[in-house]
Amino acid sequence: MNILVMNAGSSSLKCGLYVSGEARPLWQALVDWTHRAGVAEVKIEALGAVRREALPLDANDLPQARARVIAHVLRSLWHCDNKVIDGPHVVDRVGHRVVHGGQSYHHPVRITSAVKADIQQLASLAPVHNPANLEGIEIAEQVLGGDIPHIAVFDTAFHSQMPPEAAFYALPREWSAHGIRRYGFHGISHQYCAQRVAQLWQRNLADLRLITCHLGNGCSLAAIRDGHSIDTTMGFTPLDGLMMGTRSGSVDPGILIHLLREGHTAEQLDRALNKQSGLLGVSGVASDFRGVLAAMAAGDANAKLAVDMFIHRLNAGIGAMLMGLGGLDALVFTAGIGENSALVRAQVCEQMTFLGIKLNATANQSNPLDADIASPDSTVRVFVIHTQEDWAIAQACGL
Ligand code: ADP
Repeated sequence: MNILVMNAGSSSLKCGLYVSGEARPLWQALVDWTHRAGVAEVKIEALGAVRREALPLDANDLPQARARVIAHVLRSLWHCDNKVIDGPHVVDRVGHRVVHGGQSYHHPVRITSAVKADIQQLASLAPVHNPANLEGIEIAEQVLGGDIPHIAVFDTAFHSQMPPEAAFYALPREWSAHGIRRYGFHGISHQYCAQRVAQLWQRNLADLRLITCHLGNGCSLAAIRDGHSIDTTMGFTPLDGLMMGTRSGSVDPGILIHLLREGHTAEQLDRALNKQSGLLGVSGVASDFRGVLAAMAAGDANAKLAVDMFIHRLNAGIGAMLMGLGGLDALVFTAGIGENSALVRAQVCEQMTFLGIKLNATANQSNPLDADIASPDSTVRVFVIHTQEDWAIAQACGL
């Protein structure tokens, strides 16, 4: 079985072709829409070779121009067909990452016109992501044909069974009735990491209480019990919860009311909270954690404050997840910071010493992937898992 995974975002498109039994794609393509004005930068990797192209993007007709680029990229699959894949079909199924599935999508689903209408309707809740996801679906259907099953895998689905006390905000009932509630995101990553821990530990996921820490440019936590998420830090949008690269995470909503009264516009607040806050806003140096760490090491006080706040907020979030679970079998770190920063893992575990968590300091320093880094006498296991969202999408599509 060959599954093409498409992750169509607003600034980039990632595609990978996965075959049964292989966690690494045989063919993959990355298109960057925004790095160079008027140009789509394309990178295609297959059979160990890398090809780069710069294709024109007509700003006056962007949807058509993007469609042409995506069609061109997907057609490059045909050319490696004979060399890469045995069998008559290059693609048996296509798995599409869809960010927002609202309240009704709990599992991957075959895409029909009704599903597309729902994704379109949910664009009001995810205005940046869902339209880009839908564009990717429609172009893939045109190029690859509608006979191949196209499957939507939702980033919200893993959180869709959160109990009401975790899912709702303490807001007027009629707002909740209009869909203003906590949805949670990064679900594909949280679910993959939970399943991988159960596999590595040879335990039944349904028996485990886990906290997964997805710490990349975007950051979120999930509390996992009975095999699904029962609480998470992201909410109505991916802006809620932890401090992130450029996103503020949770702030007192009174600040926004104050700033609106002072004359700020919704667009200004949107930009400030999503693009100019978080590690970047506090440090004034970088949104990239490595850049902030380097500045801290060079004595920059704002960078140190940013790192201290990042860890403080992370610990506060873990504390909240912990109480909902009523105990913890394993703490799991993933994504760029979670997989690579021994400092973050050590500082979090240090705060949890009173619970009996003990890190194996040598294992922690060596940044092992898909490994348990707790010491043998720790009461709670600590895992570092390399998140593989696209591979998880391929698996969700039946690979
Ligand atoms: P995205 O959310 O865009 O997928 P990633 O999961 O790749 O992002 O995570 C990016 C973050 O990981 C950046 O803040 C980056 O600085 C951080 N990171 C990557 N490598 C390291 C490292 N060795 N030490 C600390 N942070 C790291």
